Amino acid sequence: MPGTLTFDDLKSCVMDKLIDTVLVCFVDVQGRLTGKRFHAMNFVENSFEETHCCNYLLATDIEMATPDGYASSSWESGYGDYVMKPDLSTIRLVPWLEGTAMVLCDVLDHHTHQPVPHSPRAILKKQIAQLAELGFEAKMATELEFFLFEQSFDDIRKSGFRDMQPISGYNEDYNIFQTTKEEEVMRPIRNHLFAAGLPIENTKGEAEAGQEELNIRYAPALDCADHHSIAKHAVKEIAWQNGRAATFLPKWHKDRVGSSSHVHQSLWKNGDAIFFDPSAEHGMSKVMSHYMAGLIKYSPDYTYFLAPYVNSYKRFSKGTFAPTKTVWSVDNRTAGFRLCGEKTKGVRVECRIGGSDLNPYLAQAVMIAAGIKGIKDKMELSPATTGDVYEDAKASDIPQTLRKATETLRGSKFLREALGDDVVDHYTRAAEWEQEEFDRAVTDWEIARGFERA
Ligand code: ADP
Repeated sequence: MPGTLTFDDLKSCVMDKLIDTVLVCFVDVQGRLTGKRFHAMNFVENSFEETHCCNYLLATDIEMATPDGYASSSWESGYGDYVMKPDLSTIRLVPWLEGTAMVLCDVLDHHTHQPVPHSPRAILKKQIAQLAELGFEAKMATELEFFLFEQSFDDIRKSGFRDMQPISGYNEDYNIFQTTKEEEVMRPIRNHLFAAGLPIENTKGEAEAGQEELNIRYAPALDCADHHSIAKHAVKEIAWQNGRAATFLPKWHKDRVGSSSHVHQSLWKNGDAIFFDPSAEHGMSKVMSHYMAGLIKYSPDYTYFLAPYVNSYKRFSKGTFAPTKTVWSVDNRTAGFRLCGEKTKGVRVECRIGGSDLNPYLAQAVMIAAGIKGIKDKMELSPATTGDVYEDAKASDIPQTLRKATETLRGSKFLREALGDDVVDHYTRAAEWEQEEFDRAVTDWEIARGFERA
């Protein structure tokens, strides 16, 4: 792809004074780019080998608080360092910032130089390796939905997050005229990301005022996750550059639909789409049916990784295109899992459960793990559901609250085997802390409801 650079390309750009800054980043638990801005000369001469960061960065909450209860880092252990090891195959331009390139890092233990087990990139790499042992490669696409606002981030924060005005006045699903009005933000998003080496497919208006969707072409799972994190970051920065705000909060208003991140998945072997069997029903191979059976069976176990905050669960409501049931269907948007590309080489499963706040590394890792389990155990796929799945009383529910999802995660034998106890315990603590913080909050809703009438 144009936009991606080899290390030698980067060195030449630095010598030619085209690049003066390198963003050296890793992806944190929340899926955000985190790191340092290097003078490019220092990076190409020294820091390309490794740099360091405080180990609290994979154990903070979204506001950088330092909760207790993590085995990996604590006040008692003095919050030491991690190694940030640049993955030089991820160097790319950052075309929306002058003279800037970026590189993504793996996070390693300071003493052993082994991957930190709960680092999102390490978690995904482990599942990719497990899949490779079966001879398969996963290709994924994570759709990004978000809302754009008329005001800037600063204006919205200063107003106490009140009176937020979506950039459009009406539902703009597939609307070309309205999305033309948003091109000052959306066109640079597409073009800068493409110039950064991301295979951008398109953007479109979504089914709510101010709601947008960004589609990136499917890619091997690690690339897909890298693309997702970079794109999400770029959307916010480019909105900010234009005096606008963009939010990936799954539900910013109770009366507006939520934002999702659907994950399309297929498996490949030596360049062949092994989910496809032209002679089978729907064109679905046996491997695909086992993979999907695993995905569905273990979806309650891994829901936390698709919906990591209290707010994530506000999205799951019937009649909104956000699913509530862990069943599958053929091209039916009311089920948790949708078979797309029926009877074609592009046959794939789309998981519709994830919100726009998911961490793409974690989400893909747990779904690959569930698929592997389905394949290894040759799990039988139940028949497809049809009609309005919201009303299907027999279909099982997605965990409806963070509390419920946390308990399922904590008790998941499957995830403990696939990810390791240390990883499950780490994320269970993250989930508990999120709930504890919410339980301490006094919300606007409670005050308005009870202030006078209680
Ligand atoms: P929609 O009309 O629902 O947006 P698309 O055909 O545009 O559907 O595909 C949605 C996403 O699925 C795109 O990001 C695309 O790259 C991805 N996709 C297409 N084929 C595959 C595949 N075989 N495996 C994984 N993802 C795929």
